[in-house]
Amino acid sequence: MNSSNATVLLIYTGGTIGMIHNEETGILENFNYKHLLKHIPELDKCGADIDSYVFDKIIDSSDMNPDVWVKLANVIYDNYDSYDGFVILHGTDTMAYTASALSFMLINLSKPIILTGSQLPIGDLRTDGKENLLTSIEIASAKDADGESVVQEVCIFFENHLMRGNRTTKLNAENFNAFHSCNYPNLADAGIHIKYESIYLRRNQDNAPLKRFAVYDSNVAVLTLFPGISRNVVESLLSAPGLRGVVLKTFGTGNAPSCSWLLELLTEATAKGIVIVNVTQCVEGFVDMSRYETGAQLIDTGVISGHDLTTESALTKLMVTLGSADDPETVKSDMLTPIAGEMTL
Ligand code: ASP
Repeated sequence: MNSSNATVLLIYTGGTIGMIHNEETGILENFNYKHLLKHIPELDKCGADIDSYVFDKIIDSSDMNPDVWVKLANVIYDNYDSYDGFVILHGTDTMAYTASALSFMLINLSKPIILTGSQLPIGDLRTDGKENLLTSIEIASAKDADGESVVQEVCIFFENHLMRGNRTTKLNAENFNAFHSCNYPNLADAGIHIKYESIYLRRNQDNAPLKRFAVYDSNVAVLTLFPGISRNVVESLLSAPGLRGVVLKTFGTGNAPSCSWLLELLTEATAKGIVIVNVTQCVEGFVDMSRYETGAQLIDTGVISGHDLTTESALTKLMVTLGSADDPETVKSDMLTPIAGEMTL
């Protein structure tokens, strides 16, 4: 793997990596990009030519929103031909949503887009930010023997693991090892060498041109079922004005309580054109609605299977798909078709 002379666009959105402690309150606050650079002099020596793109407003990723995803997709699209790879510095809290959204907004990638950040600020002695950033740049620069990018998709690199972005979830708020890809193997592991798992990496085989879908519709909701969920709660959510899509978080392999009111409300909603996608509350495994009666009853309501989609992926795919299609049948068929390695059928 050769990374010399590679050009990388480093996009800074914010997150813990660049934050500093407020001396009076002790609270972590956003700080500027110069501060970040000051703490990583190694960037100059890492063998890649790095340009930076800094967002006007540096944010904690809890303030991330679909307008920023669109902006990120546009920045990458507009600069796509000028760089070998892209690294996005992002807060960890919603990184899995942004990675998922970008994987649906930018289709047919033949270059890497690597999101990373850290659990401890770059100025802290034990920071994980330096390793995460430097290795992400190395991955974003990596070329194979034919001079093609080794990674051709949107990924998260964190604590030595490279994961497909739309398969990740933040599972740990404390450990450096914050992200997991529960239903898909890691794409690479970084030790002394970076060991890529080429059979799991996506390739843009036919060199299809990059397509941009920098659109969204945020008239969506997540409905998490729980024992004792009340009719009022479900009814008010499903009758929210303008609602077009719902991620329904069910039990186990896609099961729901057998109350007739719930089935009726779901049937009414799908008949109105609301697209309801069934994903499991379990972090591992997939939806199989034909396994139990409590799952099979959902099939007749018009709810569709989200297979092994993460909630982050299901929600962002729904937003992007609803943004590009008006007809619920088209949205359903798009939701059931993997477009960026996000689900296993
Ligand atoms: N609250 C921070 C953020 O998501 C957490 C982090 O970056 O680790 O921006």
